[in-house]
Amino acid sequence: MSSTAPVNPVEIARIALKRLTERGLPPTPENYAQFYNAVLTIKAPQDKSNDELQLAWQVIYQLDEVLEGAGNSTGGLLNALHQGSDSMLLSLGSLQNAKRAHAEQRATIEESHTTLEGLLDEVIATTRSMHGTVKSSHSDLQTIRDSLRHIEEDLAFNRKALEQDALTGALNRQGMDHLLSREVKRAQRLGGRLAVAMFDLDEFKQINDRFGHAVGDQVLVHVTSLAKAVLRETDSLIRYGGEEFLIVLVDTDVKGAQYVIDRLRIVAARTPYHHGSQRIEIHFSAGIASLRGDENGRALVLRADEALYRAKHSGRGRVEVAD
Ligand code: GH3
Ligand code: MG
Ligand code: MG
Repeated sequence: MSSTAPVNPVEIARIALKRLTERGLPPTPENYAQFYNAVLTIKAPQDKSNDELQLAWQVIYQLDEVLEGAGNSTGGLLNALHQGSDSMLLSLGSLQNAKRAHAEQRATIEESHTTLEGLLDEVIATTRSMHGTVKSSHSDLQTIRDSLRHIEEDLAFNRKALEQDALTGALNRQGMDHLLSREVKRAQRLGGRLAVAMFDLDEFKQINDRFGHAVGDQVLVHVTSLAKAVLRETDSLIRYGGEEFLIVLVDTDVKGAQYVIDRLRIVAARTPYHHGSQRIEIHFSAGIASLRGDENGRALVLRADEALYRAKHSGRGRVEVAD
C-alpha cells in the first residue's frame, strides 16, 4: 500500500472482536491477538495451508518482477549485440580492404610490411571468431528470451488462480491486496477517484439452516454473478469473507458507489435464487467509503467495514456512507 496513514486501533479492535464472534471463537488473548493482527494486515486468519499459499504468492510476485527485469535487459542486450555484430562486420570489411590496398601498393616493399600484414591477419582472424561468438550468443539469448516469455505466461496464469476465490471466482484477499495497492497508487498519482462498497448478506445463516450449506454456497455463487452484472469492466469484486463482499470502483465517488449498490439491490430483489420450487430472497447491508488523499487501501476498507457495521445495526437492508 502506498501511504501509511494511521488506522484507528479502536476500529481494528472492534472488527477483530466481530470476526471472532462470527467464527464462534472465544475472545481469549491469543485469539484476539491473532485476529487483531489479521485485521491490521487485512489478511484472512491463517492456517498452515494459507501460509503456504501466501508464500507461493510472494514467490510468484518476486519471480515476476525479476523476470520482467531480466526480460528487459535481455532485450537490450540482444539489440546491443545485434548492432555490435553489424558494426563489427562493417569494420572487418574495411579492415580487409585496407589491408588489400596496402598490400597492392607496397607489393615490392619490405619486411616491416610483412610483419604489419601478419599482424593485420591476426586481428582479422580474431575479429572473425569474435563475430562468430557474438552471433551464437545472440541466438542463445533469443532462446532464453523465448523461454522467459513462456515462464511469464505461466506465472500470469498461476497468479490469477492464486488470487481467485475457489467457490465464486471473485478475487480473494490476496487479489484484493494486490488490486488495492495498485489502484490506490494510481488514484493518488493521477488525482483520480476510488470508492469501495462492502456488503454482507443479511441473515445468511438462516439460509444455511433452512436449505443446507451446499445451497448456501450456490446462493453465494448467484450473488457473485448478480454483482458482476451490475459492475463495469474496470470494477472488481472481492469475496472479503464468508458472505461478505467488497466492490472496488475506479474513477467513482460516493454517489457513484451508492448508485451501484442501489442497482445491485434492485437486481437482487428481481432475481432471487431458485432452489427447486422455492425462492430464496437475497438481502444485504452495505457500507461505502471513498479514498481520501492521505490514506492507504487498508484504511479505506476499514472505513467501509465500519459503515457496514452501522448499516447492520440500524436495521439491515440499508447502506451507510463512511465519514
Ligand atoms: P447478519 O445479518 O448479521 O449478517 O446475519 P448472518 O446470519 O448473515 O451473519 P452471521 O455472521 O451470523 O453468519 C454468517 C453465516 O455465513 C455463518 C456461516 O456459516 C455462513 N458462511 C460463511 N461462509 C460460508 C460459505 O462459504 N458457505 C456457506 N454456505 N455459508 C457460509
Ligand atoms: Mg451476514
Ligand atoms: Mg458476515
